[in-house]
Amino acid sequence: TKLHYNNLGRTGLRVSRIGLGTWVTFAGQIDDSVADDLLTLAYACGINLFDTAEVYASGGAEELLGRLLQQKPWRRSSYVISTKIHQWGGAAASEGGLSRKRIVEGLRDSLRRLRMTYVDLVFASRPDPGTPMEEIVRAFTFCINQGWAFYWGTSRWTPVEIMEAHSVSRQFNLIPPSAEQLEYNLLQRDKLQSHLPELQSRLGLGAVTFSPLACGILSGKYEGGVPVGSRASVPGYSWLRDKILSEEGRLQQQMLRQLSPVCEQLSCSLAQLSIAWCLSNADAHCVLLGASCAAQLYEDILALTLAPRLTPELLAEIDCIL
Ligand code: NDP
Repeated sequence: TKLHYNNLGRTGLRVSRIGLGTWVTFAGQIDDSVADDLLTLAYACGINLFDTAEVYASGGAEELLGRLLQQKPWRRSSYVISTKIHQWGGAAASEGGLSRKRIVEGLRDSLRRLRMTYVDLVFASRPDPGTPMEEIVRAFTFCINQGWAFYWGTSRWTPVEIMEAHSVSRQFNLIPPSAEQLEYNLLQRDKLQSHLPELQSRLGLGAVTFSPLACGILSGKYEGGVPVGSRASVPGYSWLRDKILSEEGRLQQQMLRQLSPVCEQLSCSLAQLSIAWCLSNADAHCVLLGASCAAQLYEDILALTLAPRLTPELLAEIDCIL
C-alpha cells in the first residue's frame, strides 16, 4: 500500500494522507505495548503524522507518545507531531480558555510531557469567545517565534472565527492559522463539504479530519449492541454508548446495514468503505484514524487501495442509501 503525502493547505509541510490519533486509546483503553505496535505499524506504512492533545488521558497520551517515540531510532525530522491546547487546562479560573497565559503554559507543559523541544503543529481545540482574537493570534505567533511549534491551527472553529483569525493576523503582521481540524465521516459531512472549500481556496487552509468511523459506529460493530472492549464500553464513554443505544442510533445501524451490498461488491469491510469514502475527498489533506489494536489499523490503512475504486456511481449509491 502506497501512502500519498499532501501539503497541509498552503504550507510546505508534507503530511501523510492518513494520520494516527491517540485519543481514548493511548494511556487509556489499550496497553502501552499495543500503543507501541500501533506506532511501529503506522510509521512502517508511511504514516508521518501523530496527533495528540494535552487533555487526552489527562496528559498521559502525550507522555506515552513521547516516551515511545524517544525509544525509536526514527529521525525527529521524519515525522510530524500535532497537539492541542484545550479550553480546559485545569480547575483554576486562569487555566481555562485561550488567554496568552493559557496557550503559552499549555504548550510548554505539552512539550515537557512529550519530551520534545517543539511540536510541528499546535491546534487551538475549540474557540474561546472570552479572549480577544488578537491575543490568541499573538500568543500562537509568539509560540512559533520561540520555536515551540512550526505551525498553528484551529479545531472546531466556525468559518467566521477562522476568517477573523486570518484578518487579525494580516492586520498586525502575525502568523495566521494554517489548518483546521474537523470531524469528517459519512454521518458528518457538512463542515468539510460546505465551508472548507471556500476557506481552502481563499486562505489556503489545510484540513486535518478526525473520527472517520464516527468513533467506531461506521465499522458496523454496534449493530447487535455494544461489544465488550469496544470504545462504547470504555469507562467514561457512556455518552457514546447512550448515543448508540438511542432510537436514532439504532436507526443509524439499520441504515448502515444497507451498505452491505456495496461492501460485498468491493470485497471490503464497512470500516474500510467508510475510511475510503473520506479519502476520496481530496480536500481532506490528512485523515486521522484511531485504532485499539494493530489489526484494526492494518485493515483501516488498506482503505487506501479502495479509495480510487469508489466511482462516482458508487458514491452516488452510498449517498442514496444514507
Ligand atoms: P474513528 O472514528 O476512526 O474511531 C476509531 C475507533 O474505531 C478505534 O479506536 C476503534 O475503537 C474503532 N475501529 C477502528 N478501526 C476499526 C475496524 N477496522 N473495525 C472495527 N472497529 C474499528 O477515529 P477517532 O474518533 O479515534 O479519531 C481519530 C483521531 O482524531 C483521535 O485519536 C484524535 O487524535 C483526533 N480527534 C480530534 C478531535 C478534535 O476535537 N479535534 C475529536 C476526536 C478525535 P474500538 O476498537 O475501541 O471500538
